[in-house]
Amino acid sequence: MSNDFEKVRCLIIGSGPAGYTAAIYTARADLQPVLYEGIQPGGQLTITTVVENFPGYPDGVEGTVMMEQIKRQAVRLGAEVRFGTVTDVNLSKRPFLVHADDGKTILAETIIIATGATAKWLGLESERKYSGQGVSACATCDGFFFRGQDVAIVGGGDSAAEEATYLAKQCKKVYLIHRRNEFRASKAMQHKVFGTSNIEVVWDSVTEEILGDKNGVNGVRIRNVKTGETRNLEITGFFVAIGHRPNTKIFRDQIELNEMGYIKTVPGSTKTSVEGVFAAGDVQDFYYRQAITAAGSGCMAAIEAERFLGT
Ligand code: NAP
Repeated sequence: MSNDFEKVRCLIIGSGPAGYTAAIYTARADLQPVLYEGIQPGGQLTITTVVENFPGYPDGVEGTVMMEQIKRQAVRLGAEVRFGTVTDVNLSKRPFLVHADDGKTILAETIIIATGATAKWLGLESERKYSGQGVSACATCDGFFFRGQDVAIVGGGDSAAEEATYLAKQCKKVYLIHRRNEFRASKAMQHKVFGTSNIEVVWDSVTEEILGDKNGVNGVRIRNVKTGETRNLEITGFFVAIGHRPNTKIFRDQIELNEMGYIKTVPGSTKTSVEGVFAAGDVQDFYYRQAITAAGSGCMAAIEAERFLGT
């Protein structure tokens, strides 16, 4: 472990579309960015299958391939991408003192936080087994693959309601499975659900097992928590929409977060409550959560960091 301080003009934490895009822009602006990839290099897109909605890929692209390509682009332009995780930061004064698990101690003039969010899962073994083979935590990303088919989605909040309505536009039937007998979702969102004829709400029910074979998901076994009765639903797609957890643990108490733990940014910018610290992608966005919007905000953060440094 070295005690030498490494001076960095722009430190980027996180390697999803937001982080890598920030790296591309800051590298081209001669800020010699250093990016730490974090525990899931490439971010959430590396656990999805084909990405069909990112402009520029007319035939779609594997999430892992796309992230590898964006990384290569950032490296080619001069960003230093490090395999490792930032373990703690001190945002109380500039330059910011940062430690990483590769033993480096960094003094960063600016920081772009792009640590993303992690989808919550039910925690079933079968959920892991069929991940990317019919199980997904993003209807907007993967709903298209289940056109004309029967699917199920779990959750009772705005995300589940919104995503069920989205899925209903392309799927034959959508089972919305909720563990209670009332939704947490806003009334407006509930009206949409109840007004959509091909959504069947399955109340008071929990998922016991996701069923499938070598071709992927073909059903789900659910249990009514009031009657104890179990039944199988025939579906090919199983969506989980029970919330996300923003990856903000190391920034807590140092930067303003909203009540859900996401980093607060000044509307229309990536500026945070700490001057010189910018946040991009899902760590500050619980609404859009798309690769393209994350990349867009990564670009914004880079431009704002550059202007902040007055280069
Ligand atoms: P959320 O509001 O926390 O709702 C999570 C839902 O998942 C709850 O209904 C919860 O059930 C259920 N759930 C949690 N753990 C579960 C488990 N282990 N098994 C089964 N069900 C489980 O999350 P969200 O819907 O992602 O929304 C997050 C925030 O973003 C909210 O503030 C929401 O309003 C906002 N949002 C807004 C919009 C919009 O305005 N268009 C869209 C999406 C999200 P219980 O109800 O029983 O706790």
